[in-house]
Amino acid sequence: MKSVANVWLKPREEDRILRGHPWIYDNEIASVDPADPPPGTEVLVRGSRGRLLGSGLWSPVSKIRVRLHSTADRRCDAAFLRETIERSAARRERFRDIARDSCRLVFGEADGLPGLIVDSFVAPGGSGSPEAGGGRYLSVQILSAGMEARREAIVAVLEDLFRPAGILERSDAPVRGLEGLGEAVGTLAGTVPDRVLIEENGLLFAVDLAGGQKTGWFLDQRDNRAAAAAYAPNVRVLDVFCNAGGFALCAVKAGATSVTAIDISADAIAQVRANAALNGMERRVETAAANAFDYLRELGASNERYGMIVLDPPAFAKNRAALQGARRGYKEINLRALKLLEPGGILVSCSCSYWLDRDEFRGILGEAAADARIRLHLLENRTQSRDHPILLGYPESEYLKCLIAERE
Ligand code: SAH
Repeated sequence: MKSVANVWLKPREEDRILRGHPWIYDNEIASVDPADPPPGTEVLVRGSRGRLLGSGLWSPVSKIRVRLHSTADRRCDAAFLRETIERSAARRERFRDIARDSCRLVFGEADGLPGLIVDSFVAPGGSGSPEAGGGRYLSVQILSAGMEARREAIVAVLEDLFRPAGILERSDAPVRGLEGLGEAVGTLAGTVPDRVLIEENGLLFAVDLAGGQKTGWFLDQRDNRAAAAAYAPNVRVLDVFCNAGGFALCAVKAGATSVTAIDISADAIAQVRANAALNGMERRVETAAANAFDYLRELGASNERYGMIVLDPPAFAKNRAALQGARRGYKEINLRALKLLEPGGILVSCSCSYWLDRDEFRGILGEAAADARIRLHLLENRTQSRDHPILLGYPESEYLKCLIAERE
């Protein structure tokens, strides 16, 4: 049996943990016994007076020295992984048909599996042959030393529970470096085709699991795409930072008079074109590979006006230090977009940066509106889709802001 190390916290460090936060930082630890456990070791974490706070996995390099997977005395073994992944899947079943719908099956800490992300992509028709791109494919991200040490057990459990046609690893996230781990990308089981066809909001999208950004498709925006589309009928739509065209194609389907989608990545634009063609919409979407900042500035000098503009930039602030520049970036694109809206037009403004909180993001939008001398009504104050659940006590799990506002 694997040994379990004991970790004692310094006095007064347990409050955040008792409120549900699953991370223990290096500077909160008073002592470890036995000393210097190897990466991924099971640990029991105790408060300064010996109270058991939970069970976690040790990461000797990271500032986040322990990630808790349980508030009880519980090993993160194959049985635990299986039980917890099953429970995560059941949580999705409340609002998704996971046999048909693509969704995030495991959202790390928020699902009790710190450092593990599992996205499930399901081709319509269920169990088609892998060659035809049918069936279910899983895209896995392993982001902590603890989960890294359990890679084989995770793959075995996923195969057993979901019988996927293929499992791909997309552990190419820079945060792995903080755990002392290199990047890892490759097929873990079965075969994974170049493109997996998925259905979302009644549209087909070809997802590039291996080469696309993050795990290949931004599942977190699914419900926001549908919400935004409700404002699209009979208006001109501009989808800025469009990636593979999720918002743009939903707007076309909803009856927008025209849709223009722009992204800096030529690859992303090629995917928009391919996805438009898949849905017979190629003539209803205009695309441009361009830097959004330049593009919006140029539009500002023209007479173009839109009834709806979507702004879904990458996280401008990836850490606290980057916040100042990020605020300026968000302000600039929102100000420019507001000026391009016709009266009564809709701005769908997103930020996926955890570091910029909701109040502050709203504040920036308010400032942009004030600078433009535009009255702006907040119609919807949205977040990520429910397959990226928000765990109370763990604020990091609430990262996506999607504000839908109407200019007067
Ligand atoms: N709206 C998309 C997700 C957007 S992800 C969806 O619904 O799926 C952010 C996108 O911004 C990426 O595709 C990235 O290529 C693009 N991007 C990053 N910097 C950019 C810039 N300066 N100008 C335009 N696009 C940019």
